[in-house]
Order: sequence, then C-alpha cells, then structure tokens
Amino acid sequence: MFVVKKKIHGRDYFYLNETHREKGKVVSKCVAYLGKDKAEADKKAKKIIEKIKSASASSRLGQSKEIISQGEKKEIVEIQPPEEILALKSIEELANFCKEKGFVFRSSDIYGGLSGFWDYGPLGVELFNNLKKDWWNFFVNGREDMVGMDASIISHPKIWEASGHVANFSDVAVICKQCKKSTKLDKSEVGKVKCDNCGGEYIVQGEFNLMFKTKIGALDASEAYLRGETAQGMFSDFKIIQQTSRMQLPFGIAQIGRCFRNEIAPRDFLFRSREFHIGEFEFFINPEEKKCDKLDDKHLKIKIKLLDAQTQEKNEGVLRNTTIGEILNEGKLEEWHAYWLAEQILWFNSIGLTEIKIREHRKDELSHYSSATFDIDYEYIFGSKEVGGIANRGQFDLTNHEKQSKVSMQIFDEKYKNKLIPKVIEPTFGMERVFMAILSKAYNYNKDKDYVILKLPLSLAPIKAAVFPIIKKPEYEKIAEEIIEDLMKEWKVSYDKSGSIGRRYARNDEIGTPYCITIDDQTAEDKTVTVRWRDTGEQVRIKIKELKEVLRQTLYDGKNILSYGKKVDTRKKEVDASLKGKQD
Ligand SMILES: [Zn+2]
Repeated sequence: MFVVKKKIHGRDYFYLNETHREKGKVVSKCVAYLGKDKAEADKKAKKIIEKIKSASASSRLGQSKEIISQGEKKEIVEIQPPEEILALKSIEELANFCKEKGFVFRSSDIYGGLSGFWDYGPLGVELFNNLKKDWWNFFVNGREDMVGMDASIISHPKIWEASGHVANFSDVAVICKQCKKSTKLDKSEVGKVKCDNCGGEYIVQGEFNLMFKTKIGALDASEAYLRGETAQGMFSDFKIIQQTSRMQLPFGIAQIGRCFRNEIAPRDFLFRSREFHIGEFEFFINPEEKKCDKLDDKHLKIKIKLLDAQTQEKNEGVLRNTTIGEILNEGKLEEWHAYWLAEQILWFNSIGLTEIKIREHRKDELSHYSSATFDIDYEYIFGSKEVGGIANRGQFDLTNHEKQSKVSMQIFDEKYKNKLIPKVIEPTFGMERVFMAILSKAYNYNKDKDYVILKLPLSLAPIKAAVFPIIKKPEYEKIAEEIIEDLMKEWKVSYDKSGSIGRRYARNDEIGTPYCITIDDQTAEDKTVTVRWRDTGEQVRIKIKELKEVLRQTLYDGKNILSYGKKVDTRKKEVDASLKGKQD
C-alpha cells in the first residue's frame, strides 16, 4: 500500500492506494481517503496498515504480507488524472465542496460542530426546497388519489407505544475486538456480520433505543419523544383526513418532514445523521382489492437489478437482472406494492438517478410491522446504500392505534360496501440521501478548466440564471437589472457584477447555474442577449422578450437551449470584451 497525492481544483488530497494483479495487469485501487494534510495522511495510513497487520495475525488476509512490506516503504506516487473529467473520489470531498460553496455545513461549527447534525446554507436550502417540491408535484399534486399533510414533530407518547417504536426501535452498539472501532448493528445482524474495517469479531455493548426523549411542560412534566418517522402522523390522523378530504379507497396521505434518531454512530456526511427529512406516504387499500388498475405496461417493463432474499440467505451477493413484471409473477410482492415500487423508480429516473438497485429484505430482518420490504439502493461513492424503500405494513398500524386509542379506525368502502380497516403500502424516501445522490452524480471536476461543473438537473438547480453586463457600463447595467426583475418573479436568479467574465462563468458552473445571460454591444442594437449553457460553455443569442418563455421550456421540458437561437462565436466575444474592458 502507498500514499497517493491528487490535485483537485488546486488543492492536495491524499489517498491510500493498493495495487494488485488483475488478468496480468497491475491495477491500483483506492482503499481510503486520508485528508488534505500530508503529515496527517501519513499517520492515518500507518494506522490503517497496522490494523490490517493485526487482522492478518488472525489469518484473514491471504496477501497481507505483501501489502505490509509495501506499506512500510510508504512511497509517495503522484498520479495525474487520466481523463478530462473526474468524478467524485470520496464523500469527504463532497462534504468539503458543500461547505466551501455554502450548500451544507456542520451545525454549530463555531463551537466545533455537533455530530450528526447539519445546516443548509443559501444554495443548499434552494436545492433541497426544489427537490421537495419536485417530489410533492410527482406524488401529491400530480395525482387525484393522494393528499398531503404536515404533522407535529412531538406527538402523544401513546402513538409510539402503539407503533412499536418504544419496544422495538433500537440498535445494538458493538465494538470490534481487533481494531476497537465502534459502530451499530441491526438486531438481525448480531453474530452474523464481521467488522467492516478489519474483519474482526464484534463485541456487543448493549441495546439502545433510537427515539429522542424530551419533556413536555414544566411543573408536572410528562415524557415524550421527537418523532422517529413521519408515518405515525398519517396513521393517527387517518380518519380525520379521510373524512375532511372525502377520499375514497384506495388513496394515500403524503408528508415530508423532519425526523430524529439518536444514532449510535452518525457517519458518511448526510447519510446517517441524527436529524433528517423523510418523504413518505401511506397508501390505503381495501384488503379485498387484489388488482391494481393503475399498474400498466410502463410499470411492468421497468428493468431492475435485484438482490433477492434467497440469494442473501445463501450468502451470495449476486444481482439479478429482472423486471417489475417478473418479480410480480414470482409472487415476491402484491400488485399495489409492485405499482408503487415502479412509481418510485420512475421518480428517481426523472431526476437523473438511474444507478438504482432493489434489495429484498430477508425474513429475519423484516421490521416488526412489515410482511414484505424492499430497499432501493443507490451506488454512492462509499458503497451501494439505501436511498429509499417500500414496505407492506398490512393493517398493523391502524389496528394498533384502534386498540390503544379505543377510536375506531374503520371506514366504509363504497366500492365493496363494507366497513373495514385498510391495509397499507408505504413508499419511503430519505430526502437527504436523495440530495446527496443528486450532488454526487452532478459533481464533475473538469481538468481543463480546473474546477467543478455541477451538472444538476435543471429543475433542481438552486439558481436558474446569472445575469451580467459583459463590461461595466450604466446602459448595460440598466438592461441587466430589468431582465433580473422580470426573471425574479419566477425563479431564483443572480446578478453577478464582479470579476472577469471567465471567473463569473466558473463561479456559476461550480454551483450548477444552468444559464449565464450576458448583455453586450449587440444588446443595445437588437434587443438580444447571449445565453451560455453550463454543460458545454456554448452560447446562443436570444431576444430579450422571448427569454422567459425559452427558460420555461428548457428548465422543465428537457429541451436544449442551444436550439433556440443563433450560436455565438465565444472566442471572438471574449477577446472583444477584454479589449473593451481595457479601454474603460
Ligand atoms: Zn475491526
């Protein structure tokens, strides 16, 4: 193993790499990210190599001897990025980028931060709001069979008894016998999994409930919990929502909201934190309703990569290429369950996330409420991890709330003419996890330009356009201000006045702004502006009076802006601008 230094937009980053032979070729693989400081990196590398050494003592690694002897040399090799575009190298790199640009940073940073809590900055909150709005349009406003709600974060403690969270919602804290790394395990994993750091045995430290406790009132304060999931709001308010919105089965109630879990080991940037947002809905169905009339060819033909329960029980990690239609035929899920899994995949695809895998839960890991559950995993830089999921909760929650509250949860179904407690399909999305997947995918370091071009989906970009006069001139500035005033009525736009033109393009590329609109000499003559497209740097000339409509069409309908106007010779334009700039 050896330490590798990489320059990424002007900064040094250190990685621990190892080489091995693959089909006769020497292949170098990144093992760990070591930070930005050389001395720190060396220290970390030494530690990791020592861990591997102690692990090899228990004879787990066959080739460990060779690795250690290389490790002791610790040669520094500088690797030049092989291609023009470099994707993300580590989750820390993304976290640094998000902090630098004001997307997301540690909460309470001036006091050293608070583990598992994060703050959204000006760009992060715009991106996150756009993401939530997109989700809401897709699953709520775009459908007749869904209504929304927003429940309080603290609810009656009895809700959490009825839901099973007080009794069951816990993780097991463990510590590795070898490398002493502490982490948490799901109850079903105890005794089955080994340390993900060194392969050592875990020692159980105890079981901890994940619910955050708090007190309500002052003098005779009663104990309560911050919600660990949003679902219970939809269940406890099920009757009043059904009655007031006059929904008929089948229908759903949706919500996006903050949740709290007292995680033993928060990690991987926003991936496992203690305060986060869940987007989910409970879809209520008459248990007699086996057919889903909304399930059509579009859903059945969706191709998926599936890791099924049997394969996992045999301890094999082999993914199977299949379709929603096929797993429905195999009886892995019911029609409504299949329909909603398909709709989830369609939404992920609509925001550009196609690196999706489906993992069926094994019998021994199903939650206390579920008869069938699938994880939707995304290929993150730190591995394939859950970004969403879908569970068949049956009648579990409504039945228990009826028992605990003594309030009937039955409703009358007009179609079947019977009174019943509906069963429930629950699609869930970890909104921060979706946010992270979108940023990871958008992150493209451009070697030629030596900066990151953040290729966000246009509808989600925090700022839709930056407007600037190509040179400082009162007439130009006046036109820029007029354009901004008009565009601001619909979108977040920015007026970028300072720095060279190249610097202004770079600044906007880095935060994912799709369009830079410039006012130049020709603007005064023919009332046109140039619009530069983020992903290619190409520019077209567009009439000011058509600008808003063109933006509408390209931001949401996927049309390419370059087809809307005459292409501009950008080289000539920049030379002109710099000459003009000197004259001024
Ligand atoms: Zn270990």
